[in-house]
Amino acid sequence: MGRLLKFMVLFLLVLQAAACGRGLEEAETRPHETFERAYDPAEIGKLQAVPDIAVVDGLTYVDGILIANKEYALPEDYNPGLQPEVIESYKQMFRDGAEEGLDFIMVSGFRSYDYQVGLYNRYVAREGKEAADRYSARPGHSEHQTGLTIDVGSAESTANLKTEFGETPEYKWMKDVAHEYGFIVRYPEGKEDITGYMYEPWHLRYVGDEAEAIYESGLSLEEYLGID
Ligand SMILES: [Zn+2]
Repeated sequence: MGRLLKFMVLFLLVLQAAACGRGLEEAETRPHETFERAYDPAEIGKLQAVPDIAVVDGLTYVDGILIANKEYALPEDYNPGLQPEVIESYKQMFRDGAEEGLDFIMVSGFRSYDYQVGLYNRYVAREGKEAADRYSARPGHSEHQTGLTIDVGSAESTANLKTEFGETPEYKWMKDVAHEYGFIVRYPEGKEDITGYMYEPWHLRYVGDEAEAIYESGLSLEEYLGID
């Protein structure tokens, strides 16, 4: 064998070993699977697109992201409060916004299951189930119960918790920087059919580092994770 050939064979062996090693590592660290399915080799491409859904203590994680939506609920006794990383991040965003002359306020943070029971029932009594379901979550389905969600507003505005919040200087700045603080606008405009909620420019969901990729994709969280 020529030197070059020997080198190439060695190189390929090293590559293969590295690939095997990584495969093993992934298999070991992957959260336990909740389902298995049989497939033929032609289906491998599709199989890789199947989201990694894991249920841990009644909480549903898709690719490691905790999900609460119309389909996936949280346990009644899941009561984590607003998470420290969320508090730290929104405070930093508000401070940076203030330097731009913006005046953010916190409108709503953590909401417990029991609180949501009262809130949802009041909306249903006022406007009926169909209308309430467009903007209010049924108990257990509210993202506010994750402790990773906040509603923000503008101190200057009367448009808080209204679609018009999307026209405030606060929102216009926030929509393109929120991901730098780990947040996404969870119910974007034009995605009601997918998220099940009308456009809510004020409702931010903390997803950490993943926020940038989600923002860049222009997709709703459901589409991004492949659970729409
Ligand atoms: Zn909200």
